[in-house]
Amino acid sequence: MKFATKAIHAGQEPDPTTGAVMTPIYQTSTYWQKAPGDHKGFEYSRGTNPTRKALEDCLAALENAKYGLAFSSGMGATDTVLRLLKPGDEVITGNDLYGGSYRIFTKVYEKYGIKFHFLDLSKPENILPHINENTKLVWIETPTNPTMRIIDIEGVAKITKQHKLILTVDNTFASPYLQNPMDLGADIVMHSVTKYIGGHSDVVMGALLVNDDQLYKDLWFIYNACGATPGPQDSFLVLRGIKTLHLRMKAHCENGEKVARYLKNHPKIDKIYWPGFEDHPNHDIAKKQMRGFGGMVSITLKGADLQETFRVASSFKVFTLAESLGGVESLINHPTTMTHGSIPKAEREKVGVTDNLLRLSVGVEDIDDLLADLEQALS
Ligand SMILES: *Cc1c(COP(=O)(O)O)cnc(C)c1O
Repeated sequence: MKFATKAIHAGQEPDPTTGAVMTPIYQTSTYWQKAPGDHKGFEYSRGTNPTRKALEDCLAALENAKYGLAFSSGMGATDTVLRLLKPGDEVITGNDLYGGSYRIFTKVYEKYGIKFHFLDLSKPENILPHINENTKLVWIETPTNPTMRIIDIEGVAKITKQHKLILTVDNTFASPYLQNPMDLGADIVMHSVTKYIGGHSDVVMGALLVNDDQLYKDLWFIYNACGATPGPQDSFLVLRGIKTLHLRMKAHCENGEKVARYLKNHPKIDKIYWPGFEDHPNHDIAKKQMRGFGGMVSITLKGADLQETFRVASSFKVFTLAESLGGVESLINHPTTMTHGSIPKAEREKVGVTDNLLRLSVGVEDIDDLLADLEQALS
């Protein structure tokens, strides 16, 4: 099946008891057993729930994976991957990460004796000198947040396969509509479902997708033992959101491109980050591994200090100043004080996350209203 068909149907069959076409919200914590152990595959909803199962199967289908696991947040999904590790293990990751990923790596897991290497991953071979017998996991995010750098997933996967390391790709920014890391050699795909997949800024959720049977078993064990699993209401809302993922992503890509091209020559803009530009340093890899360039655009304001950046960020009328991304509505975010506040100044400035940077999540409103809003806010 092709993407749009999977988005609408995968994992979902008419309900066997009533014929309901839409997956019911199975609002139950527990399930009847005829005799101990004699049940229909569902025992207790921390581990399994039919609404969540339909969602997990749909997510797996969208990422061309065998198994899906849904979590109560993206960070719950990330935490579950990190729990595969033990003290002494080492992780190689990028130096331009979602702030919350940086925070859980350094503030939660370093104290359990896990070592993280934060590298510039624009060339996959930059990983090689940091691999040793303790290295277990490579964690990448592409496009990166917020500076929209592109990492060559296939190039990194060649190295992780050779050295038997687990490659996890945070695919939140691209969504499965634009990029499928499994097809390029990833072992685990991670999503903040909160963003494009949910798509309506009304649910916080995460997901992991895997192919390998043993890896799935290991992750499912942690998922059930630690319990960061979402409820059936949220699972239903996300199943509903996914039915328009392909339509929304097309519109995000169209509006994103128009906004990026409008801002590129704007006199108030210094740098602009969008992987669709021919002169973007990783444009060729973006073109090769993605089916479009998405709706995320970051900009720096020419000569603006923090106060002037705040003034601009607060003067939008259609874009809403808020954390998060990927919803139908346009959002604007100030990374250094909002999403990336937990990354030390020296670290973030190395990769261009400066106080005059703003990140736009371009929504699917009418493009004329979005451009007019940018025009007035930047005037
Ligand atoms: C939001 C986000 C996360 C964390 O997901 P939550 O659902 O907020 O817990 C992880 N990675 C990226 C790239 C994100 O944007």
